Amino acid sequence: MRNTWLSFSALLLVFLALSVQAVDTNAVTAIVGGTVVDLEGKAPIENAVIVVEGERIATIGVAGSVEIPDGAEQIDVKGAWLIPGLMNMHVHLGLVLPGKMKAELHNESEAALALRMAMNARESLQAGVTTIRLTGDLHQADLALMRAINKGQADGPRIFSAGQALTIVAGHGSKKEGRKKFSGPDELVKGARTQISAGAKWIKIAISGGIATDGGGLAEALMMPEEIQAVIDAAHRFGVKVTAHSGSPVATSIAVDYGLDCVEHGYFLDRPTLKKMKEHGTWLVPTIVVSQPASAPFFERIGSPPWYLKRRDSAGKAHWKALQMAIEEGVNIALGTDQMPAEPNDGTTATAREAQYYVEAGMTPLQALRSATIETARMLEAEDETGTLEQGKYADIVAVDRDPTQDIKALRNILLVMKGGKVYRNKL
Ligand SMILES: [Zn+2]
Repeated sequence: MRNTWLSFSALLLVFLALSVQAVDTNAVTAIVGGTVVDLEGKAPIENAVIVVEGERIATIGVAGSVEIPDGAEQIDVKGAWLIPGLMNMHVHLGLVLPGKMKAELHNESEAALALRMAMNARESLQAGVTTIRLTGDLHQADLALMRAINKGQADGPRIFSAGQALTIVAGHGSKKEGRKKFSGPDELVKGARTQISAGAKWIKIAISGGIATDGGGLAEALMMPEEIQAVIDAAHRFGVKVTAHSGSPVATSIAVDYGLDCVEHGYFLDRPTLKKMKEHGTWLVPTIVVSQPASAPFFERIGSPPWYLKRRDSAGKAHWKALQMAIEEGVNIALGTDQMPAEPNDGTTATAREAQYYVEAGMTPLQALRSATIETARMLEAEDETGTLEQGKYADIVAVDRDPTQDIKALRNILLVMKGGKVYRNKL
């Protein structure tokens, strides 16, 4: 009897231990020996100790000044540089592009889509990207995945989603399978409210044509001013920000006047429009990597048709010039790729290559790093929770092998990824 009781207790203990491990909110980890990059451009913290309790940073400082709690698990990152988890602000986890890829995914079920998106989320995290903004996915699979990740049922970055993008009849994206189209201010307002009600934290509108669809010219203002105004007003009343797919200076200028928060791509933006964006504090998410040579092998791999490649090339030069001008004018820039964050590009990921392009276009490495971390957090109004390595913030930490404020190519090699205190990658 006594033996039975003992073994029962032992079993119970094992069971309790296992369940604690599964939802280990009290785990203490000390990341020791690394150099913590300062995003204000000040000297880094060398030989640092970061104590992580649960999902947040408890203390951070030079070794010796920080007490490592008894029983803390230690991760030795000697020789590595520590930065906040990267953020990518233009992602479609369920991305489908014209050509072979579209043919293969024809009639994809919603369940299959959700599983493909979960895989892409997992790979994004592996690439050091701990926060993403989704700028248009279908069937609310994005919102389901966001909830699953928050509950620990799936691995992936923190998700801020715009739900389904609001596209007008005949506009950019309107011919995509399974997508609802809108016409007139009333329908767009209803569309925005529907997305907000479902859990969207942003609203995305398509106000000009795009590369990937034949829905109107890239530089044309396709959505009417009253439609743009109505949808921005409707979203702002709920405290929800609005971002616009736009290649058009005219459409962008109108939308910025109505309080647009963010512009995606900006292929043909001119200096006056960029100056206006600077004045209004409007954000630009360049997604430069999609129109530049580094992504050419990607488009070959997915079997993009000739019309698509032509459209992409014709936008590429203007897009590059627009980015250079935006940097010169000091427009707020948040990093985004419009490819999967982990998509192979030029021997690295789309996210790392995008940041490298920013430096090639005129940013300092520190500015490029900020556009993938603290600036981005500021755009999301999440800077109290993430975006820097500071006490009280989420322990979203990435280790690289060089100082990225000296050489942005450091982002090409991600050694360690921690999100919310949990390690998802360790190549140290
Ligand atoms: Zn996109």
